[in-house]
Amino acid sequence: MDPLDILTNIERTLPYYQAIFSADEHKIVGYEVLARIETDEEIKSLGSFFHDDAIPDEYRTEVDYAVLTKALEHILQQEEQFLIFINQNPNLLMNDHGESLLELLQSFANKGLSLDRIVLEITEHNFNGDIESLQNLLKYYQTYGIKIAIDNIGKESSNLDRIGLLSPDILKVDLHILRQTAMTQSYQDVLYSLSLLARKMGVTLLYEDIEASYQLQYAWRNGGRYFQGFYLHKPSAELVDSYILKDKLKNQFEMFISHEKKKLLTLYQLTERFQDKMQQVMNKCRKSETYDEMLNIMAEELSQACFRLYICDENGFQKSSNWLKQGNSWVAEPQYVNKNWSWRPYFLENIIRMSYEQKGILSDLYNDIETGENIRTFSYPIDQTHYVFIDISYAFLYEKDAL
Ligand code: CA
Repeated sequence: MDPLDILTNIERTLPYYQAIFSADEHKIVGYEVLARIETDEEIKSLGSFFHDDAIPDEYRTEVDYAVLTKALEHILQQEEQFLIFINQNPNLLMNDHGESLLELLQSFANKGLSLDRIVLEITEHNFNGDIESLQNLLKYYQTYGIKIAIDNIGKESSNLDRIGLLSPDILKVDLHILRQTAMTQSYQDVLYSLSLLARKMGVTLLYEDIEASYQLQYAWRNGGRYFQGFYLHKPSAELVDSYILKDKLKNQFEMFISHEKKKLLTLYQLTERFQDKMQQVMNKCRKSETYDEMLNIMAEELSQACFRLYICDENGFQKSSNWLKQGNSWVAEPQYVNKNWSWRPYFLENIIRMSYEQKGILSDLYNDIETGENIRTFSYPIDQTHYVFIDISYAFLYEKDAL
């Protein structure tokens, strides 16, 4: 659509609202305001208009504020006190150091709109100005109770350090890529890391672009507190009942919960079976004089399940060869003796736990550097100061439903 047609028909622009649902109450916690224009034929999105840098800034800002004003006027008449998510292009926002937006919002605050309901969605990777100025502006907004969301995470490259710098309240993570069947494990790992980062930063995670049940499940499993997408609610000109999906969401989450509990139970039972098995195996190892002799026996006993074994002391120094399965036989790799593994994540934490509980631990699923496969490691205390590490093969985990 011609930008000039938009400007000359500004009275035909209107806000659409897309509901955002919460995991803790299964209700609508807020709406993202989206700009549309009514033509003779249809209602059109104004997304590309706002992103077109060829259009002078002041025109885009004018249209943006016209739609925002209509939205806030409408919202002010509602009884429900939901959050209002507003997209802001950080480059346009910085033109006047955020003054005109604040004036607009304050004029509504004077009419009774609480500013702590406002969430500004900023796309960090679109910003080409000085990040510290933006940081200062966002901090200033936050002193008014306005919340900051970083938008479009996962869509294009986001700089984790810049995200940290902007101290957002919410991260909006795009699940668009989850729709592609060929989605790589590495992308899932990135999303998982984001959920850990959000937890460390004390930031709320909002997953958007949810278009199917499995994406909702993914979002729920990965620390999502808020959810948005066509699967839940398509943008519309009307605000809807906050509890419109309460039963549906409650039922779905109950399914997710039961599925997850079943999975966790499977892992717990597998851990117990390894624990029992190792107690038997250790009896057979009593006469072994060296750790390599011991591993020779263990390797045969555990041949079905694992592909690599080694023994370390409590400081992480390897005291045996690596025993590696090649085809149907085992080879010892003595070059690993005396290497130190204490730098690995959770290593010392797990040692202390095993030493204290005198029980083995099954690790989380991770990608093995050498084989490139998803594996787990069962570690087990063999005496007061030594521990055996048993790398369990993908095939075995797959067979036991323990991936
Ligand atoms: Ca947005």
